Amino acid sequence: MSVRICCSEGGAITANDTILEQISRDDLRRIYTDGLATIGEAADLAALEAVRVRFLGRKAELVLLLRSISELPPQERPEVGKVGNLVRKALEDTVEAKRAELESRELVQALGSDQIDVTLPGRRLPLGHLHLITQTQREIEDIFLAMGYDIADGPEVETDYYNFEALNTPADHPARSLQDTFFVTDTVVLRTHTSPVEVRTMEKQRPPVRIIAPGKVYRRDSDATHTPMFHQVEGLVVDRDITLADLKGTLETFTRAMFGADRKVRLRAHFFPFTEPSVEVDVSCMACDGAGCRLCKRTGWLEILGAGMTDPNVFGFVDYDPEEYTGFAFGMGVERIAMLKYGVNDLRLFFENDLRFLRQF
Ligand SMILES: [Zn+2]
Repeated sequence: MSVRICCSEGGAITANDTILEQISRDDLRRIYTDGLATIGEAADLAALEAVRVRFLGRKAELVLLLRSISELPPQERPEVGKVGNLVRKALEDTVEAKRAELESRELVQALGSDQIDVTLPGRRLPLGHLHLITQTQREIEDIFLAMGYDIADGPEVETDYYNFEALNTPADHPARSLQDTFFVTDTVVLRTHTSPVEVRTMEKQRPPVRIIAPGKVYRRDSDATHTPMFHQVEGLVVDRDITLADLKGTLETFTRAMFGADRKVRLRAHFFPFTEPSVEVDVSCMACDGAGCRLCKRTGWLEILGAGMTDPNVFGFVDYDPEEYTGFAFGMGVERIAMLKYGVNDLRLFFENDLRFLRQF
């Protein structure tokens, strides 16, 4: 049975005669007429909600009456069930009608009182910028992308095989000691360099290979010049007739793009397990232009990266013929490059997230 809800202007709500005619019980009649009157008096949405809880909530008289219908004398049950539900439905509908009326009234009031000047300029939100390490890594990436390199990616949790063994690092090499490496299990480590990406790339691809592998690396070290996590960019080129001269030319091109056209590069003999010969690479000091100063410890040179010709043994792990192909590899710390380029004197500044430091870049 549908019941027409009757709302008059100004809040007073009159009872519906069709419903009243069916109510013989005093309590239902009282609930119905009181409910309608109280809903009509609700001045705002909060008051209306309180009224709804009072007449229709879990502990409301009507709701309790309907719930205990089985305890009534049998002859009373039909009326309470049928008419009680009719009253409940009528009160619910009235609450909803009243709610709609109050909401539209509040909206009209809000529109009338809020004054918006659409011609005012917007308020600018404070915008962050990329961290200096990210900026530097992208600068390095852009220089090598311009030279035709691809960017390769790989896992930070790495197996012993890729992190050490396939890079010609025998089991007794110091780089494998507990002091340097974070071990996850006996055969799984947090990668100590991004070189495993080079092995993974060579497994999937035949020469020519020309990639850089940027990313996070992990070592058990923490002081003014070491942090347990830092960033590396490693590079690998493999093709026919690649020589040390190609490596030197590549690093000169990189160094001048990064530190300025006047920079000179020198190679010093060194040892890495996965390159033969291996070199350390210095750039002429940008603070004193090679004359000698505190930054370069009076030498005129600053070490920026390690490099070398790929050891033929490494090619054996990825099934490249060392008679046919040669290659070079290099690796640099992004933090070190950023410190030299931007004159940052403590590595820890990169990780303390002090905005006074970060905002300078
Ligand atoms: Zn210097």
